[in-house]
Amino acid sequence: MQVDEVLIRKLIDTVTGRMLAHADELTVLDQAIGDGDHGLNMKRGFEALLDDIDEFASQPLPQALQAIGTKLVMTVGGASGPLFGTLFMALGKAIPPSPSRAEAVAAFASAIAAVQARGKSEPGQKTMLDVLVPVQGALDKGYQPREVAAQAAAATIPMQAIRGRASFLGERSIGHMDPGARSSQLIVDVVLDVLEVHT
Ligand code: ADP
Ligand code: MG
Repeated sequence: MQVDEVLIRKLIDTVTGRMLAHADELTVLDQAIGDGDHGLNMKRGFEALLDDIDEFASQPLPQALQAIGTKLVMTVGGASGPLFGTLFMALGKAIPPSPSRAEAVAAFASAIAAVQARGKSEPGQKTMLDVLVPVQGALDKGYQPREVAAQAAAATIPMQAIRGRASFLGERSIGHMDPGARSSQLIVDVVLDVLEVHT
């Protein structure tokens, strides 16, 4: 896949637009099992990317992703900021400048491993990993990643949170979708949308 300035710009613009459109929904989800800041956290972080979009777009993909991750760590805040930041930084470290599909899927796997290490977490604990891990598996095996992402986000509803703020609620965390799982699904969907049009 040829990655150029236009594509990087388009990805940042589109992901940010999707986050802004869903910020209220993420807030409501986080009000149910957290402190209600996830929508605002994501809005603030992705809006901050727009400020530096020229800088990101002028760099090769690996450097752009690492700079995006660093910016997200600094601006998203909460527990999710360092974790989404790590996801993009680690992706940037693992991905070549013009990745093949297989190289991109492999880089995504190592980025997820970095999030797990940083969060001391694994799938099944009602977090963003419950979307990221199955989506990576779907991409690897050639299944429909959007359907898997939607099902995986919904599958966090009956889970009890074992990590993050929601875990303080114990069994009362059951019955609500995890906000970070939903925001991960939104990011996955929009990146796939952009890449499909591009390729
Ligand atoms: P905070 O919980 O500090 O208020 P946010 O509301 O922005 O931060 O983000 C909450 C989301 O972060 C959760 O819904 C969950 O998906 C994710 N999360 C929290 N802790 C972890 C962890 N240890 N590993 C993976 N994801 C986590
Ligand atoms: Mg929160």
